[in-house]
Amino acid sequence: MFDELPSTTRVSPFALTPEDLATRHPPNDPAYLFRRLLRVRTWREGLPDLGSEGRAHVDAHYDLALPEVISQSSSDDGSTKLLLRLADGAEIEVVHMPRAVKNPRVTLCISSQVGCGMGCRFCATATMGFRRQLTAAEIVAQVLVATRELGPEDSTRITIVFMGMGEPLQNLPEVSKAIAILADERGLGIPVGRITVSTSGLVPQIDTLAQLPVRPCLALSLNATTDAIRSSIMPVGKTWNLQALREALLRFPLRSHEKITLEYVLLAGVNDSDDDATRLAAFATGFRHVVNVIPWNAWEGVPYTETSEERLQAFVKRMQDAGVLVTVRRSRGRDVAAACGQLVRAQEKNRRSPRLPVML
Ligand code: SF4
Repeated sequence: MFDELPSTTRVSPFALTPEDLATRHPPNDPAYLFRRLLRVRTWREGLPDLGSEGRAHVDAHYDLALPEVISQSSSDDGSTKLLLRLADGAEIEVVHMPRAVKNPRVTLCISSQVGCGMGCRFCATATMGFRRQLTAAEIVAQVLVATRELGPEDSTRITIVFMGMGEPLQNLPEVSKAIAILADERGLGIPVGRITVSTSGLVPQIDTLAQLPVRPCLALSLNATTDAIRSSIMPVGKTWNLQALREALLRFPLRSHEKITLEYVLLAGVNDSDDDATRLAAFATGFRHVVNVIPWNAWEGVPYTETSEERLQAFVKRMQDAGVLVTVRRSRGRDVAAACGQLVRAQEKNRRSPRLPVML
């Protein structure tokens, strides 16, 4: 779509605000260029209206290459996993999840790191280990690639969740820069109320997130109700215990109608007892919340099993009886390994099987 020049002298513009553009090889109209770059239609139809001089300027100074789409895998439930290759060859994944046929909206589950070093025992991504941080431009580019291929063109219909590869709060400088770009009304204009950062529970970084000028919503991947169990399945629990986490959530400043999401992956016989439900309900009191119960997706080599439907229902009912707002997230994209905690499995599988034709 765009001419290629050696990229050594060029920078990616996807994390540059109009003000940044104005100070770095300023184009004629930085706000115009920003608006054009941060627009889904541009990546479907090409950069219009820059004039030959403007186009030459952009090509000379800015690297407009988006990540290469290596494969896409569609699930029966309508979600699609995109495997992307970055400029240095690193691979990350984005999951595209349409949500309603009428008045369609799309949730994009995006990555913040290549791999992850947090070591959660139930998570397939953890098996990769940490490889590197994503740049803000690479984070924004995931959104551009996914929407270019699968929509929606109207960016106000996009919801972003940082629940793909990586612990976003370990990469807060780049994640926060990307969020500011994604939310900038001069570009994609995705409301901050529709951008959620999910953390495994890094207390100091939760406090830092709370102070961001462009602050996203917060989700905590909780997954246990005692420190002993949490530490055994999430090593971060040895550093920040449940009390410290809860105190961080209690002081997190919520906008009106905003809730903190508590994500709770159910592991049979580990964290799904009635007592766990009671303790979870107690943990969630004192701040506006929604508890997102996630039936775990079993994968080979992990000593956990899936909670039965009966136990799931009993767990949910006990919390509801205690006045907790609960939703059950049936993981989407399960059959393409795009569901929660499954991302790397598809990547490993792709290495072993022929690559799908690039469509995205
Ligand atoms: S659950 Fe999240 S924080 Fe934990 S290892 Fe997986 S990607 Fe990292």
